[in-house]
Amino acid sequence: MSKPLAWVGEELQSLKEAGLYNNIRTIGSPQGAWLQVDGQRVLNFCSNNYLGLANHPRLLQAAQKAMDEFGMGPAAVRSIAGTMDLHFELDRRIAAFKGVEAAVTFQSGFTANLGVIPALVGKEDVIFSDELNHASIIDGSRLSGASIVRYAHCDAGDLRMQLASERSKYRRALVITDGVFSMDGDVAPLADIYEETHSAEALLMVDDAHGEGVLGKGGRGIVDHFELHGKVDVEVGTFSKAFGVVGGVAAGDAKIVEWLRQRGRPFLFSSAMTAPDVGACIAAIDLLEESTKLVERLWTNTEFFKKELKTMGFDTAHSTTPITPVMLGDAKLAQDFSRELFEAGVFAMAIKFPTVARDKARIRVMISAAHSTDDLEQGLHAFSEVGRKLGVIQ
Ligand SMILES: *Cc1c(COP(=O)(O)O)cnc(C)c1O
Repeated sequence: MSKPLAWVGEELQSLKEAGLYNNIRTIGSPQGAWLQVDGQRVLNFCSNNYLGLANHPRLLQAAQKAMDEFGMGPAAVRSIAGTMDLHFELDRRIAAFKGVEAAVTFQSGFTANLGVIPALVGKEDVIFSDELNHASIIDGSRLSGASIVRYAHCDAGDLRMQLASERSKYRRALVITDGVFSMDGDVAPLADIYEETHSAEALLMVDDAHGEGVLGKGGRGIVDHFELHGKVDVEVGTFSKAFGVVGGVAAGDAKIVEWLRQRGRPFLFSSAMTAPDVGACIAAIDLLEESTKLVERLWTNTEFFKKELKTMGFDTAHSTTPITPVMLGDAKLAQDFSRELFEAGVFAMAIKFPTVARDKARIRVMISAAHSTDDLEQGLHAFSEVGRKLGVIQ
């Protein structure tokens, strides 16, 4: 390696020594309750496949049909020649599903945040951001050039104090929160946040990536869960989690959506979602509108698994959703725990710095409607064995 690049090798080595190096597992099967990982069949507790849609036959058929009709790639950005009939259909269908005036789709949830935030605020403005917001919110906020004020996690009282001291120094203000926090599984107190935001004359944006398909009636998301329809100015979401495909969305007030079609940079400068992806997303919405069975199954599984883990003596912190952190503290312990689980046939990821604070390493279990009760019991058995072997529980 050339001398100017020597630092990369040193950095990589120090990540390995600190137990912070990402070992990337490779998957040799479709998503589901069980996966082929590095050649071994394991119980899957890692994916965001909340409803088991990632390999659902209806989505596969819809993707095939969309490909037959529209081909594969869009070959253009949406504002030039990349908006097919299907894209507008998805925009309309996701808006109707969420109960908002309008929606616009992006290539991913990440690019939706990079598009939406700089379109709404700039140098003369201020963003109030929950301290544990997702990386894509942080990056979108930095890109906007607005001043960023962090408030204490899920703390509407702290938000009120920050608004009171900072809001008046700026032109526009935007309050941004994750709906469900992806590493902790706790839910933002959105009704309280709305009250503070409204009285300070700020805009409110929520990133519902882990709430869609999970919270609210039939999985309609966090705004439905808190009955805040018409009060949240813009909701960002993803088609890559509960919807089982890939893609992002911004939904809300029709004027904001119209503005995003003019000024959302990933809409203007990065190619549209592919036809099969869009077709599959529409099929996912069809399934959610036809039946609430999968969402109910997800919650039954979640409650069962959490209750059993707690009975064994594990700490699942503040989670109230299918995202179940098993708190361990030390990064090395979390990595050892994950490796032991894998050897016992259970795939559950260790989450460590910089994704979470240095002393908050954990195993994160993602529960899915695809798990059978048998699957969950096998998983619990492995947690109990490994937990005792490593001295985490008695
Ligand atoms: C996963 C996630 C994203 C990114 O979504 P992608 O569609 O995978 O790019 C954005 N925000 C939050 C809160 C997420 O959890």
